Order: sequence, then C-alpha cells, then structure tokens
Amino acid sequence: MLESARAFFAGDYAPHGYCLLWQPELIWTHVVSDALIAASYFSIPIALVTFVRKRPDVEFGKMFWLFALFILSCGLTHVMGIWNLWHGDYAAEATIKAITAIASVPTAILLWPLLPRALAIPSPSMLQKKNDELAAALAERDSALEQLRGEVAQRERAEAALVQANKMEAVGQLTGGIAHDFNNLLQAISGNLELIQMAPDNRDKVVRWAGNAAQATERGARLTGQLLTFSRRQRLEATAVDVGGLLHDMSDFLRNSVGPTIELDVEIAPGLGAVRSDATQLELAILNLAINSRDAMPQGGRLLVQAATDAPDRIAVRIVDEGVGMTPEVVERALEPFFTTKGPGRGTGLGLSMAYGVARAAGGDLRIDSEPGKGTTVTLYLPREEIIRSAAGTGREKSPRDGPARLTDILLVDDDREVRQTIADMLRKQGHQVTEAENGPQALLELERWSPSLLLLDFAMPGMNGAQVAATALEMRPDVKLLFLTGYSDSEAIDRAVDGRVRILKKPVSAGALAAAIDALID
Ligand code: ADP
Ligand code: MG
Repeated sequence: MLESARAFFAGDYAPHGYCLLWQPELIWTHVVSDALIAASYFSIPIALVTFVRKRPDVEFGKMFWLFALFILSCGLTHVMGIWNLWHGDYAAEATIKAITAIASVPTAILLWPLLPRALAIPSPSMLQKKNDELAAALAERDSALEQLRGEVAQRERAEAALVQANKMEAVGQLTGGIAHDFNNLLQAISGNLELIQMAPDNRDKVVRWAGNAAQATERGARLTGQLLTFSRRQRLEATAVDVGGLLHDMSDFLRNSVGPTIELDVEIAPGLGAVRSDATQLELAILNLAINSRDAMPQGGRLLVQAATDAPDRIAVRIVDEGVGMTPEVVERALEPFFTTKGPGRGTGLGLSMAYGVARAAGGDLRIDSEPGKGTTVTLYLPREEIIRSAAGTGREKSPRDGPARLTDILLVDDDREVRQTIADMLRKQGHQVTEAENGPQALLELERWSPSLLLLDFAMPGMNGAQVAATALEMRPDVKLLFLTGYSDSEAIDRAVDGRVRILKKPVSAGALAAAIDALID
C-alpha cells in the first residue's frame, strides 16, 4: 500500500497514468469519489436488509433483498475502479460488472410489475380514513341494534298480552269441566258434614266422615291450583317432583278432560324418581298434550300416557295418540308460540310451546314424532334428580296433635268470618293465643295496644289490603313476624308489596301446614 502510495505521488503510476494525463489530482478525485460511492453503496443494503428483517409484514420483502444485492455489487464495481488504478485487474473487474448486471437486470425488470401493487398499498392517511368509515359503520350498526332491541321488547309485550288473552280463553274452556268436578266435591263435603250433624256421638263414624270431607277438600285445592295457573301468571316453583305420583294423581282429571270418547291408558313404570320442575306447570303441560291428542281424534280413539325410564339419568313422559297426525311442515312449526292449525276460538297455539318451555326449564327437551294418518307421539324428556327427602312430606308437616314448638301470641286478620274462625280454632287447638280482627283498621287498633309475636294476614280484604296492613304494622312493631294467607296465586304482587320478607301460605291450608309455617317463622 505504502509502495503504491509512493508510486502515486512520484508520478510513475500505472496502468492509468496515460489515460489520466499523468495528473495526480485526477487520480486523487477518482479514488476519493469511488471510495465514497462504494462506502455509501455498502451502507444502503445494510439499512435495507435491517429494515425488512425487522418488519416482516412489509410487502415485497424479496424485492428489498434483490435491491440490496444490486447496490452491493454496484459498490464492488467502484472498489474495483480504485484497485485497477494500480493493478489493471480487468478480469476481476469484468466479473464484478457481470454480477452487477445479473443483479441489476432482474431488479429493474421486477420493479415495473410491482409498481401498481406498490401504488395500491394504502398510505397511513388512507388507512385513517378507512378506520373512520369503519367506526361510523359500527356506530350505525349499534344504533340499528338498539332499535331492534326496542322492537323486540315491544313484540314481547304484545306477545305477553296475547298470552294473557289466550289464557283467559282457556279458562273459559276449562271452567265447565272444573265446575262439574267441584260440584261433586262439594257434594262429598256437605254430605259428610250432614252425616256428622246427624250422628255427632258416633265417634268412629265421625272420624271417618270428617276424613272423607278432608280428602274432598284436598282434591278441590288441587283443582283450584290448576285453575289459578290459567288465570294468573304464577311464580314458577321448581321443586323435586315425583313424576309417577304426579301422573297417578292427575289421571282422573286427565280422563275427565279428554272426555268419554277417548280410551285413556296411563302407564307408570315403578321407581321413576323425581325431576326438578314446577309440579303445577308440569301437570298443565301434560294436560295440554293430552288435549291436543283429543283434538286430533275427533271420532275418538286410544290415548296412551306413559312415563318410563329412558336413560339412567332421564325420564321420558310420552303422550301417544292414533289421531290425524302432522305433516312435516306442521311438526317443524308446532313448537312456535301461537302456531295453530285450529280454527279461530279453538286453538291458542300455546299448548306445545308451553310444554316445551316446561321441559326446557326442567333441563330437558321435547320431541314430536308424527306422520299424517299415523298418529302422534310427543315425548317430554326430563332429567332425573334425587328426591329431596323433606319434600316427600315426612317431618316437615306436623300433624296438629304434635302441638307447636313454642306457644305464640297471634293477631289474625281476615274479613271472612268463617275462614277467620276456623283458622283461629285451629291455632287455639295448637295452643296459641289468638286475637281476631276483621279488617285492617281494627288490626292496627289492636297493634297500638299490644305487640303480638305473629301477625297472620289475609291478603285480599276490602279497604286496606293485607300488604298495606303489613307495611303499617311493621312501622309500629318492627319485630312482629308476618305470615300471609292468600287464596290467590298471585304471590308476586305480595312479594312486590312487602319486599319478599314474609312467608305466604296458600288457602286452603291444613292445620299441619299452618303449624309448620309458624314453627319455621318463630324459630
Ligand atoms: P293449539 O292446540 O292451540 O293449536 P299447540 O301448540 O298445542 O296449539 O299445537 C300446535 C299445532 O300442532 C296444533 O294446531 C296442531 O296442528 C298440531 N298438533 C299438536 N299436537 C298434535 C297431535 N297430537 N296430533 C296432531 N296435531 C297436533
Ligand atoms: Mg293445544
């Protein structure tokens, strides 16, 4: 190097001395310029490669590498330019030029087709604009959704109103049947009471007659329970329901409902166990399905209601008829609320959808198998659950003879004199102190004078209703316990009125249930 430098300044440099007019300044200019260009050409590919390696998302990454190679070889040609001022290594220079050509031609060719694609890459400002458009579209969609929600809510309100109307219609249909049943029950009760009046001294017989009358009352209570389900929106009370027992208890009622032209068989497999459902609603679902079958067999026929174990953890309740059956189109829509093929005033279109709702609420499902002319099988699949022991009725309901755990001062408010006296007698028999009031204002007068431990309240009373009495009573005597007795199923209204802080007993109430409720409250 030193050698070359000396030659360079001495003027006897070769081989370019001649071409460069033996002027050191020209050679100097070439060397420095080539060196600077080469240095720049070497730095640019490093920058390019670093860029594509750090940004793998960048499009045309390969192009960057090709470009880097091209610039690198350009740099090398300039290095060769310096080298050859002294060495004349033209073969090496040619090789490097050839490599540069090989790198440059594809780079140049490839660049053109890429141009439109490169132009199509959105700029940050274009991206921002697209983003804004998207945000606007989203906002629009949100407001549309909001509107849709409003419409859905409106539709739900309309549907609820329609359900209510349809229920009222169904009450009309049921009333005839129930009135008939009720007259029979009243006959049984009044007949037995008359027998007691005629022979009050025959102890054994009196006990039997009283038992008969009490049994008839129980059946009456079940019937009114069914009626009330139609007339009001009843609170769903999921408990362990013994399916076999339920079907057994309702089979007479089913028979009455489908009428004498239909031969009803009820088959209950032994040891079915319980499901988690609302007993009244489940009964109503089965009743609805049986009535559908009756409607499908206008000339009469056979109807089978069957409860069996379907899988170890599942009970299947099947309602099988040999009626007109359904086309696939009807099967498809049958579960829709308000879908009916029956004439106006005949069908509500709610039977199957209600039954489906009950099955779903119990964690199960409903299935329809039907063909036109071949009859229909509707199956309720209900997951089994362990029977809750207390629900079987042992222990919880005390017989009146057991007496209360603790004697209590009770203020009893009921506007119906007979009901009030009967209940007061029951309570006194259980050893409680009972004071009677026949309406709200009278009860509040009593409360001013003394503090009972328990206020037993009828709900529906003229003037002040039970909830209003309760609210004032709690202000006067915050410690008083409350127990409602109501003949209505609309316990929700009571809950709303008094915050669900109280217990509610449904009339008719047995002495045992009354004692159990009071025990639970006082303990
Ligand atoms: P509704 O009985 O008031 O019409 P449902 O929801 O109970 O309403 O039934 C809907 C429709 O499904 C009925 O109108 C009827 O066409 C059809 N359907 C239901 N059960 C049966 C059945 N057992 N046999 C034939 N068709 C039935
Ligand atoms: Mg129906």
